[in-house]
Amino acid sequence: MRRDPLAGSGREGSGHRAKSTRLSLVDGLGRDERRALLAEIDAVLACRIRDIKLTARLREIYRAASWRQRSGTVRYWLIWVTLFDAATCVLDYIQEPRILWLSIALRAVLVPSVYGVLVWVWMRPRSGFTEGLTLPVTIAVMMLVGQFLGAAGGGAMHERYLSGALFATATAILVFPMNLRWCVAGTVLDLGLYFLFNFTNPAIELKLPLVLTTFFAFVIGCLVPARQTLNLLLEHAFVLSLRNRLQAEELAEANAQLAVLADTDGLTGLVNRRAISARLTADWTAQAAARGAVGVILIDVDHFKRFNDSVGHAGGDACLCAVAAAIRSAMPAHAVAGRYGGEEFIAIVPDAEPRDLLTLAERVRAAVADLRLRHPGLGEGRHVSVSIGVAIAPAEGPSTCTDALVQIADSALYDAKAAGRNRVVAAWSARGGEPAPAEAGPAQVAAA
Ligand code: GH3
Ligand code: MG
Ligand code: MG
Repeated sequence: MRRDPLAGSGREGSGHRAKSTRLSLVDGLGRDERRALLAEIDAVLACRIRDIKLTARLREIYRAASWRQRSGTVRYWLIWVTLFDAATCVLDYIQEPRILWLSIALRAVLVPSVYGVLVWVWMRPRSGFTEGLTLPVTIAVMMLVGQFLGAAGGGAMHERYLSGALFATATAILVFPMNLRWCVAGTVLDLGLYFLFNFTNPAIELKLPLVLTTFFAFVIGCLVPARQTLNLLLEHAFVLSLRNRLQAEELAEANAQLAVLADTDGLTGLVNRRAISARLTADWTAQAAARGAVGVILIDVDHFKRFNDSVGHAGGDACLCAVAAAIRSAMPAHAVAGRYGGEEFIAIVPDAEPRDLLTLAERVRAAVADLRLRHPGLGEGRHVSVSIGVAIAPAEGPSTCTDALVQIADSALYDAKAAGRNRVVAAWSARGGEPAPAEAGPAQVAAA
């Protein structure tokens, strides 16, 4: 399974602090910052992979994001080589029993000590220089061990041990996740020490160190472009994954905005009819489970056509906005008000009690009346008002009852209009004092 280079490895402990650092670099970016970073990424990805050059910010993010993996790679190499090297004491003894104690001192004490320090260095993020320096130190220690043991063993052992150390350290050049500069520095040091130590070997001809070093320079020199290619591929994969992540965040944000827009009435900012119907169905279901009752308050602006005709459509829109704001301000937190269409509004009230519902409806009516919006279409001194129909029903039966409940509220609203407008009419039939089932017709009129 491929792992997202931005995701954590799941292993905590020493890297815990590093993990939070890593995530904090791209987490919680504002929209503009995110777009700027995406533009940076697009510019980087416009190049061919071999020409990729991360910007300073991307490099910082990459280093932080890849630290856990880079650190693990180096530490595993150091630990395994330390163990393997310690075990090699046995081979030293078999080849030349004289060098056993030197072998133990170098392989079981020196190497574990120095490499232990290097493992410690890689336990938390360091500067690029400190991280880079661990490669030449690793190489120098291993080459020194080869030199001392080889020289002590003498004869063919000297050259053999130096070659062994050269090959072991060559793997570090490939495996250590270093940039080109450190990689080249490590290679030059490795070959330089190999040449120098072979030069001190009295058992070989003088020209041989040069020949051997030149030969191995071709072999080990190939590791540098290999490492560099690996670096470029890793950086490319990282930038792609970062772009995916940022684009996914962009998309999620846009979707969230769309969801809000899809549920909002463009004029008044209240919930629109689609969303209010969904809310009514949801409340109905929830109330059915809780054996509660759902209340509906249907609100219609009185003589709005005349208002429109006298002040114009724009003035009518402003009036609708003011009425919507008054309705919203009258709503308790657990209820929701929306625009049902035209100059009609609706409120859904879960856990409704008949008396509380009537009180709330009356509060809405009063809130609109208190706006004291002049209604020029009705004559001097007249103000905008609303008529309200209220219905309540236990949430039982199929969800199609929600439509019936709204219809009952609509009938009550019709009665409120017929009774002279600017009033609240409640519709329910007595059923032992309980709210009427949704199928019942309007029954009771509460005077405004
Ligand atoms: P009633 O008291 O019986 O409700 O009479 P009314 O005039 O309010 O009702 P009617 O249904 O006859 O007219 C409603 C008017 O609302 C008609 C329409 O022009 C107006 N209207 C509907 N939607 C909007 C809107 O978004 N903006 C504006 N300005 N007017 C709207
Ligand atoms: Mg009306
Ligand atoms: Mg109407």
